[in-house]
Amino acid sequence: MTTIAFLGLGNMGNPMAANLVKAGHAVLGFDLVAENLTIATGNGVTVVADAAEAVKQAEVVITMLPAGKHVLSVYESVAALAAPGTLFIDSSTIDVESARKAHAIAAAAGMASVDAPVSGGTVGAAAGTLTFMAGGATEAFSRAEPILKPMAGRIVHCGGPGAGQAAKICNNMILGISMIGVCEAFALGEKLGLSHQALFDVASTSSGQCWSINTYCPVPGPVPTSPANRDYKPGFAAALMLKDLKLAQQAAQAAGAVTPLGAEAAQLYALFEAQGHGGTDFSGIIRFLRGDAA
Ligand code: NAD
Repeated sequence: MTTIAFLGLGNMGNPMAANLVKAGHAVLGFDLVAENLTIATGNGVTVVADAAEAVKQAEVVITMLPAGKHVLSVYESVAALAAPGTLFIDSSTIDVESARKAHAIAAAAGMASVDAPVSGGTVGAAAGTLTFMAGGATEAFSRAEPILKPMAGRIVHCGGPGAGQAAKICNNMILGISMIGVCEAFALGEKLGLSHQALFDVASTSSGQCWSINTYCPVPGPVPTSPANRDYKPGFAAALMLKDLKLAQQAAQAAGAVTPLGAEAAQLYALFEAQGHGGTDFSGIIRFLRGDAA
């Protein structure tokens, strides 16, 4: 049993913390929203008064927060309060630069650290089947791996500090671009009188195959579990896809990488969100591409 401080008990953090409790760990939780604390208590998390109280007692600190500024602010205020050598794991999706700063804050305070963003969404968080993409020193990763296991379907050590965040935004840039490509193909097929099923049967078994068509098909019918079958209820909300595409663009600019399709995908999701569809599943962008989203 390990004593774990869990900071950020939102849509992802609460089910993740619940899986740590189920695995027999003592979880001390804190969030700014009272309602989230009530849910955490129901899941067996011991709610404490603030982040400092949780961190002082913990062997491992996990953060699951909205963005880089929240992670840095928490690290700056609590890193020095932890027992020397405490392992800090940040599972939020944040920019690579902030992730590296967070590692530096932890190291300066004598702590070990891993960035470990996830994919798999709230369904994967509840089922304990998230994919963790981890960055950090090998020793820190070896300590993090058994802690992450009850929340994970797969854990990949991607490299040094920030490598987990880098893998996450590269993967999601592929996803955003490929979803738009698949949606364009269905919209074109419709105009050409091609049935959804016929295009699916060909493309899902030919060179057009990818996760966006085979598993998450953006039209109703061919893949009954995809959000298209429930009026594009997420799933993975377009606003979160936009967040990740913006992080990819920010990283591309800082690193001098050429990503024109990533930039275009970010623009299209920004327009989709501006039309009031940030809460729609990201595959719902097919409506925007058909011109019927507004
Ligand atoms: P959320 O907004 O539901 O949860 C974030 C929580 O952090 C909130 O409850 C908020 O009150 C809390 N918080 C903010 N500042 C805090 C502080 N100083 N101390 C304690 N708590 C604080 O967001 P979420 O959907 O749980 O996502 C969390 C992270 O995971 C984000 O970075 C997101 O991009 C990433 N992510 C989300 C999904 C998803 O499907 N929701 C999937 C993969 C990754």
